[in-house]
Formats: sequence, C-alpha cells, structure tokens
Amino acid sequence: MKKEPVKVREASAEIRAGNFEEVVKGYSEDEALLEASRCLQCKNPLCSSGCPVGIDIKKFIHQIVQQDYQSAYFTIREKSNFPSICGRVCPAEYQCRKACILTKKGLPFASEQAINIHFLERFAGDYGKNNNLDVPVEIEEKFSKVKVAVVGSGPAGLCCAGELARKGVQVDIYESLHKTGGVLRYGIPPFRLPWDVLDFEINYLQKLGVNFITNFLVGKARTIKELFAQGYSRIFLGLGAGVPSFLGIKGENLCNIYSVNEFLTRVNLMSAYKFPEFHTPVNIGKNVLIVGGGNTAMDAARVALRLQKINGLVLNTKVIYRRTEIEMPARRLEIEHAKEEGVKFEFLVQPKEFVGDERGFVRKLVCLRSKLGEPDSSGRRRPVIIEGSEFEIDCDLCVIAVGLKANQILINATPELKTDKYSDVIVDSESMESSIKGVFAGGDIVGGEGTVIEAMGMAKKAAKSILQNS
Ligand SMILES: Cc1cc2nc3c(=O)[nH]c(=O)nc-3n(C[C@H](O)[C@H](O)[C@H](O)COP(=O)(O)OP(=O)(O)OC[C@H]3O[C@@H](n4cnc5c(N)ncnc54)[C@H](O)[C@@H]3O)c2cc1C
Repeated sequence: MKKEPVKVREASAEIRAGNFEEVVKGYSEDEALLEASRCLQCKNPLCSSGCPVGIDIKKFIHQIVQQDYQSAYFTIREKSNFPSICGRVCPAEYQCRKACILTKKGLPFASEQAINIHFLERFAGDYGKNNNLDVPVEIEEKFSKVKVAVVGSGPAGLCCAGELARKGVQVDIYESLHKTGGVLRYGIPPFRLPWDVLDFEINYLQKLGVNFITNFLVGKARTIKELFAQGYSRIFLGLGAGVPSFLGIKGENLCNIYSVNEFLTRVNLMSAYKFPEFHTPVNIGKNVLIVGGGNTAMDAARVALRLQKINGLVLNTKVIYRRTEIEMPARRLEIEHAKEEGVKFEFLVQPKEFVGDERGFVRKLVCLRSKLGEPDSSGRRRPVIIEGSEFEIDCDLCVIAVGLKANQILINATPELKTDKYSDVIVDSESMESSIKGVFAGGDIVGGEGTVIEAMGMAKKAAKSILQNS
C-alpha cells in the first residue's frame, strides 16, 4: 500500500504570527521512521545529484530506517557541515526533492509525494546536536604552524574555518558586524532558524580553537597585504552579498522605505521587535508593502506581520511581485507559511512611483499591472507592462526586496582582486583561488546571491585547496 508523506508539525498560524518562535517543529522519532520508510532506496538514486554538495541521501535515510541515527548524522556531515541548519533552510523542493523519483517529471519544483529529505536531514542533524556528537578531528602535525584568516562569518566562512580547524590549522575569523553568522543571524529570522541552532555550530568551532574577531572590517581596519604581513599564509574571503538593489523609481528616498537588509537587520540582529527593551526601533505601519518574490521578501513580510500583531495593529501586510506565484523564487514552504499567517499577495504588479506626505513619509505606491511575455535570460517569462493600467496601493512602510549584490568594501580596497561585471570575485572553479595568490573565496561573493548549501560547498572546496597547498 502506498504510504502518504508524513506532515511536519508546525505552530498554529494564528499563534505564531504574534511571536518569533520556531514555526516548524520537526519530526518526532516515530514520524522520522515513518517518513524514512517511504524512501524507495532506488538502485540509482537521483536525489544526491540534486544536492549541491552531493550528500549520500539514500544511505542516511537507510540509516534512519535502521534507527542508527548517529551514523545518519555522520553520513550527512561527510558532505555538509551544518545539517541542522540546512535541514531548516535548504530549498529542497528545487534541489534533492525535485530530483526524487517520486516527483513527477517536468514540474518546476518537487511534488508533495517526494520524500521529505530536508525534514529527515533536520531530524538527524538535531540528533547530532542534542547528543553533542562531535565530528572527529583529524589533526595533522604539518598544519600546526599554518595560520589562515577567514573574512566573513556567514556559512561560507564558518564552513571553511571548520574544515581547516579540524586538521589543526590555526584559524581567525574576522567579522565586520558585532555578531557572527552572516545572513544566518542578521537575515533569516529566528522563527525559521533559531539562534541556538546557529550558536551550537559556532560554539563547536570555538571548541576546535577557531578564534572570532568581531567588529572588524577588513579592507578598512586592515588590508589583505597587512593580514599576510601579520603571519597568515592563506586568506579565505566569504564576504557575502549584502548590498541591496533598489527599484530606481521616483520617491524611493521617502521615510519608512527600507531596503530588506536594513529592515531584517534591525529586527533580527538588533531585536527591534523588543523595543524599547532594545534600542533599535522599527516604526511599523498600518499598511505594509513588500516588493519582491524571493526568500528575503517572504522573511520581510512575515517579520512585518509579526510586528503588526505584537503592536496590536490590524494585520495588513501585502507582497507585490511582478510575475506570478509559480515564478516566485522563494521556498514554497515560506510562501505557504506567509499565506497561512495572513500575508496578502498581489501578482503581476510593477511599482512605478512612491508618493509621500508633506513630512516626507511614504503614503502610496503607484503601480502598473503586467502580463507575462517571452522567457528572459533567467528562463522565466518576462513581465510586460499593460499600458494605462495604473493604480495606487496605500502604504506607510515599504520594504524593497529585489536582490542583493556583492559586499564591496574589501574589493574596492584591493584593486589586484579581479572581479566580474557584477563585482563578484573571480576564482578558479576548482581551487577557488582568486587572482591574488593565497587568497581564496566562496559563497555569495562568488557568483552572486545563492543558497546556504552552495556557499558551504564552495568553502569546502577552498579549504581542500588550502590544505593541499599548505
Ligand atoms: C533574508 C535572506 C533569507 C535567505 N533565506 C535563505 C534560505 O532560506 N535558504 C538558503 O539556502 N539561502 C537563503 N538565503 C541565502 C543565503 O543566506 C546566502 O546564500 C548565504 O548566507 C551566503 O553565505 P556567505 O557566507 O557567502 O555570506 P553571508 O551570509 O552574507 O556572510 C558574509 C559575512 O561577511 C561579513 N563581511 C563582509 N565584508 C566584510 C569585511 N570586509 N570584513 C569583515 N567581514 C565582512 C558580513 O558582515 C557577513 O557577516 C537567504 C538570504 C537572505 C538575505
């Protein structure tokens, strides 16, 4: 008899919309066993080819079926340093689950019937975390004198540092913000990725001897040359993509129009949702508008809705997107969660101009309706404006979430570092070495906005080359 997918437990939409606690509760042991038992254990599994780091998915699921959770954890750890994180944030429906044999061919993302690989990964990851299963270190004497500087403490930097420290390399991570974790801390809200899950991984690196230096902007406080002069033999750049794109339309400088980075950083990193207990406020509006259709837009919308509820306002947060729901790049789960919580959506809408009041605060967004035309270079159908379709949406707070570009400060301070037309660092795709000998790079600073697992995959490659050449 065909077994139905095991649904994951979640906090009720009504309650969770008023707090920042984790929404997805994960599988219990019984639920994980039931879901794992649905895996067909294909002779030639396709799922692993859908995983950017090639986790042996068939094997770890089989180990779960055998109730050998420790081995399942270590199988995942062979390829992915942070299973509890990836099990929570990986866009599995576009990756491993899409490749699952149970997904119907030709769909843009996984069918519901596909194995819930990410929830099983989270189960095994949390087992490892809850049982303090440290990955064995493989210290090699020859690395004991090697010193590496990692710039940036996002998933790329953390992963590279972990790979090196496990071999006995001395690693210092330089981070410009006052807290570590990159987007995992300042971007992704705690109701998707609780801080204790991230802190567990950071504490583990500290136990391995990795040294964290925060509030330190490389490129300003010290240059690459100065880091080499200080005794580092190799440098890894995991700078990320944190420079927001804007719409470039009239009125965009009005008060209460935020870039998605500023909005999420204020709330997630600086606890604006606990104002005045914490000093940074967000003056949440009655009519909140989010522009965009990716993960950042969904996070901003769900955060804004929570702020409205916490402040006793009627929930009115709307996302506008220039294509249709099917083209939205956000994780499907996030879209569903946003809808359940009460976020409204309006599709095929293009912003034209913001209108403010006499005090310079935003009041309206003038928009145009669009329809889908021919596919563009991204393969998605291009939105085409419908002439004469102008209309207005009331808004007293707007968040622009239409893309992020490479962080530039270090790049601008280092002219020898070659970049492409998007200002991303150019690297050799095998070694991850940049145009400067001994300087490696990975994550969003190479190839633009990507995913956590992709950033980790690149960092692992870079760490391998650093070890081979040290
Ligand atoms: C809001 C949001 C939601 C997302 N949701 C998901 C998701 O659900 N799933 C998913 O897979 N991906 C998601 N992503 C994408 C994912 O987070 C990124 O691909 C990933 O974080 C990239 O990792 P990174 O280490 O390259 O960069 P980052 O995480 O950006 O980290 C870079 C770090 O480097 C620091 N830094 C930069 N320049 C310097 C300097 N000169 N000196 C010192 N420090 C410096 C920055 O402060 C930052 O802490 C999301 C992104 C955002 C913004």
